[in-house]
Amino acid sequence: MIIQDNHGEQHEYNVLPCPLCGEDPEVVTIGNDACKSRGVRITCKGCTLKLEQHTLKKGFEYAFLFTLTKWNRRTGI
Ligand SMILES: [Zn+2]
Repeated sequence: MIIQDNHGEQHEYNVLPCPLCGEDPEVVTIGNDACKSRGVRITCKGCTLKLEQHTLKKGFEYAFLFTLTKWNRRTGI
């Protein structure tokens, strides 16, 4: 999946489908370098399962990896 951050830079990440319903999620970034924190929100388009993580001092690259790793580790119930 190609994800565009708030700088307009594009990143390619492997994002697994939703563990609950199998739909592809939508990934958005929150904040920018001028903000105190940068965040990444992953929302399932099917069931609106959500995962949002913020990082204070690191950049988007870190926030992406952190949040996506968590999302991809999720398993269905
Ligand atoms: Zn879902």
